Amino acid sequence: MAMKVRTRFAPSPTGELHLGNVRIAALNWLFARHSDGKFILRIEDTDVDRNVAGAEQEIIESLRRLGLEWDEGPDAGGELGPYRQSERSQIYSKLAEHLLAEGLAFRCYCTPADLEAKKEAALAREETPRYDGTCRDLSPDQAARLESQGGGLRPSIRFRVPRSRVIIHDMARGDIAFDAGEFGDFVIRKSNGSPTYNFAVVVDDQAMAVSHVIRGAGHLANTPRQVMIYQALNAEPPAFLHVPHVLAPDGAPLSKRSGARSLREYLDDGYDSDALINYLSLLSWSSVSGEEILPPERLIEEIDLERIGTSDARLDPDKLEWLSGEYIRRMAPDELAERLAPFVDAGAYPGLDEQLTHVASAVQERIATFKRVNDFLPLFRPPDPMEWSADARRALKGPGIPGLFAALRARLAGLADWNAGGRGGGGGGGGAVMDQVRAAGRALGLKGRDLFMPVRAGMSGATAGPELADIFAIQGQEISLRVIDQLLAELEREAGAGTGAQG
Ligand code: GLU
Repeated sequence: MAMKVRTRFAPSPTGELHLGNVRIAALNWLFARHSDGKFILRIEDTDVDRNVAGAEQEIIESLRRLGLEWDEGPDAGGELGPYRQSERSQIYSKLAEHLLAEGLAFRCYCTPADLEAKKEAALAREETPRYDGTCRDLSPDQAARLESQGGGLRPSIRFRVPRSRVIIHDMARGDIAFDAGEFGDFVIRKSNGSPTYNFAVVVDDQAMAVSHVIRGAGHLANTPRQVMIYQALNAEPPAFLHVPHVLAPDGAPLSKRSGARSLREYLDDGYDSDALINYLSLLSWSSVSGEEILPPERLIEEIDLERIGTSDARLDPDKLEWLSGEYIRRMAPDELAERLAPFVDAGAYPGLDEQLTHVASAVQERIATFKRVNDFLPLFRPPDPMEWSADARRALKGPGIPGLFAALRARLAGLADWNAGGRGGGGGGGGAVMDQVRAAGRALGLKGRDLFMPVRAGMSGATAGPELADIFAIQGQEISLRVIDQLLAELEREAGAGTGAQG
């Protein structure tokens, strides 16, 4: 019988997701979709001291913006919830009691101070600190005595680690054997009543019928403890796949300190979400086809857990940016316009929101993230009064320039239909406005770069950018004429100043 695939992403709400976590989420999502299974979001918030207010909401919002939708989760509901660990205390308590009753766990009355002292002593002897078994075999009488002496201190519950070998199976690494004795009897329920990670995760993965645990390689050391708990609960462990780390570009662990940015920051910077999923997925495996640009639907088709290896990957910000640009270039202008809209400050660029599709096609080849559209918006809505960059001013030097713009002004002012000929229309392309630019140039013996560079510099204030035809079209007649007037006035002032200086 084919097993029903159920995967989960189980973040702790301790801060924002960085790309390493997001990659894990993406792999779980892709594999669930590939297998026609279910993808679960579970919030692991039992470590109250580490929880950060607002982090859960932040995680949920970022994952949504990325387009990873889950079938079951704290907000989505589902039959095997609740999906927030803080709401599952009863379930953990019941199972901890069950293990106690079976003799598979025991109460530990050691105080934190005792345990700390023993740990220090072990470290001083250069030994790995490990629980020494003080409370492992207490008689009921001894336990009762400690209970009454406890002065209100509640016992913790420790798992009785079997004195045997434990073998875990990792899909990428095969079988790995551990000497269970190495671990010491570990706590499954703290004296404050909350479960530890290793216990809660097993209880939940089992209760939620998780079939595949796909998580970071950092958890490999936890897996033998978890497998022992599965065995104690008489449950079949899920399939485990520990995905290698993503490192910072310099090979350091990915962290805030190594310059890791959160998923939210990438999204706020306007990286395309599909490009992010694409990039993060292929940090772990590569398509048989060797293709690098694989949107989610292709990744879903092709993902193959067998192709996930064991070597760490490094984040390559240039490649991620390149990929985001590739996704942008593949979008229809309408779609791109929709994605650009949240990044365009409509107040600062009046009327531009209605021209976003045109803006999108004008900048499509030139931006790698949505936010970069802002590099070009001042060219389409120049400031009033107009400003020219130093480069633009250099391109506007020369005796023929005032005459060229005067001629252009006369021709463009007379154009009855600014958009006639459309984009790329007209004899030489670019529609009626560009026809007039060429005609003005012809009359003055200017063509090619000698014509187009000063016109570009004059109209946009910059020497590089989108097609001149797009700049004219998006500016519209009124703005274009205003810019030319301001340029002519400026050139005249300079000429006057120049003459004055010479005289
Ligand atoms: N809450 C754990 C973490 O954020 C989840 C570990 C797991 O997937 O088992 O690392």
